[in-house]
Amino acid sequence: MQRMTRQRQSVYEELERLDDFRSAQQIFDDLQRQGHRVGLATVYRNLQSLSESDEVDVLRAADGECLYRLCAAHGHHHHLVCRNCGHTEEISMADVESWVTEIARSHGYTAVEHSIELFGLCADCTAELAAETAGTPPSVSTGAPSARGEN
Ligand SMILES: [Zn+2]
Ligand SMILES: [Zn+2]
Ligand SMILES: [Zn+2]
Repeated sequence: MQRMTRQRQSVYEELERLDDFRSAQQIFDDLQRQGHRVGLATVYRNLQSLSESDEVDVLRAADGECLYRLCAAHGHHHHLVCRNCGHTEEISMADVESWVTEIARSHGYTAVEHSIELFGLCADCTAELAAETAGTPPSVSTGAPSARGEN
């Protein structure tokens, strides 16, 4: 059993408070703001060890940054993440699991791991965006020619 250091405790508590995926830098900033004396390297190290012991979910954003979240779901699952506001849904994809198992077996592979995360715009952000688009006159920016299929 691993010892819970004070820093690890504050990182963990910060994640408990948050509902969305956050980068180490964001968690570090939040802790600083609350007056915790924790270094960025310590935050990184604790997030990594929490994710290694499966207490925290980690995923890689499109720009390569690692994002962390304390998940309600335990065990293997996937995420549907809003790239605009960070809102996250825990999802299970039974079809994907059996597809993975089948592919692995057909190639004679064992102990196969996979990680699939879906990024998009949540319902709220989609509605917001639609409202914004509807509010602007459509005749303003039509300078861009549509891409041609030939070359
Ligand atoms: Zn999760
Ligand atoms: Zn959103
Ligand atoms: Zn899976």
